[in-house]
Amino acid sequence: MNEYPMQAIAPTVARLLNVPAPEKAEAEAIDIVMRDLTGVPRVAVLGIDALGLAIYQYWHAKMPIMAALERQAFATLRSIPISKTCINFGCMVTGASMHVHGAVTRDTPFQCETIFDVLRRHGKRGAGLGRKGWTGHELLGRHADITTGGAAQDDPAVEACAHRIIHEQTPDFLIVQYGLTDETFHRHGPYAPQSAEAIIAADAWLERMAASLRDASYGIILLADHGQHTIQPDEDNRLGAHGADADEDCVVPLIWTR
Ligand SMILES: [Zn+2]
Repeated sequence: MNEYPMQAIAPTVARLLNVPAPEKAEAEAIDIVMRDLTGVPRVAVLGIDALGLAIYQYWHAKMPIMAALERQAFATLRSIPISKTCINFGCMVTGASMHVHGAVTRDTPFQCETIFDVLRRHGKRGAGLGRKGWTGHELLGRHADITTGGAAQDDPAVEACAHRIIHEQTPDFLIVQYGLTDETFHRHGPYAPQSAEAIIAADAWLERMAASLRDASYGIILLADHGQHTIQPDEDNRLGAHGADADEDCVVPLIWTR
C-alpha cells in the first residue's frame, strides 16, 4: 500500500488548482491523486477527525460509503509529529511540518504561507469549516476567505453551512473538519461499542457531503488528521488518546474521488 506524507496534501491541492504550492511545502503532489483528479475545477478536503487506519479497518463493516470509495482509490497518509489536530490540519494547508508552519495550537498564527494565501493571490477563494472552538473554524477559518462565521456549534450545523457554501459561493477550495469521531473516541475509546455510533454518523456525513460536492464538480480528498489509541482512564476519565508517534496515531486513510 502506498504511504504519503501529510505534507503532500497542500501541494496536491495546489497542483490540481493550477497554482504554486505554498512556499514551505516539504513534499511533492501525490501522483496517483493527480492521475485521477487532474482537470477538476474545484477541490474539497474532508477530514474525519481521529479516523486512523487501524480504527477504520476495525469499523470497516459499519462504513459502507467509505468502503465503496476505498475500493476505487486508496492509499495511506502519515501524520506529522505531534499527531494532534491543529498541527496536522495546519500541515494539510501549508505542506509544512510543525516547527515550520508554527500552528502548535489552534490559536497560533501560521509562520508560513498557506494554500489559502496562494489561492487568494491567484484570484481564487478557499473555505475553512469546523465547529466553533475547533481547528476547522479557529485555525483554518481564520485564514480562509469563507467560514461558518463561528455560528456552527456541532457537526450538523457545520454541515448545513457547508452545503450552503458549496452551492451558493462555490469556493475553489474547501476544507471541512468532522468532529464527532474524535470526541467519541476520547470519551469511550476508539474500539468501544459506543464509538460505532460516531462511525456510522461519519459515514452518513460522507455520503451527503460527497453528493453535494459532486453536484458542484469538486474533486474530493478524504483523510484524517491522526488516529487514536486506547488508554487506561486518565484524570478526565478519557479512554482514547493521540499525540504519540506509533502507527495507530499516525497512519490514516487517504481516499479520493470525483
Ligand atoms: Zn483529539
